[in-house]
Amino acid sequence: MMCMNSEKCALCDGEIDHPYLPMEEWGIDGQLCGNCYSKKISEFYPGDHERVNLSE
Ligand SMILES: [Zn+2]
Repeated sequence: MMCMNSEKCALCDGEIDHPYLPMEEWGIDGQLCGNCYSKKISEFYPGDHERVNLSE
């Protein structure tokens, strides 16, 4: 049985501590963990992610 409410990362399938919503242009359906989110950020916006504070 699928549980739609369980929060798993759409990329690494790991459990999400704090869910991050992916940007539309990333084409990702679901939520991301902090790791994958910051990875995607640096992939899509290299050198321009200083203002993203993931530790807050
Ligand atoms: Zn992840």
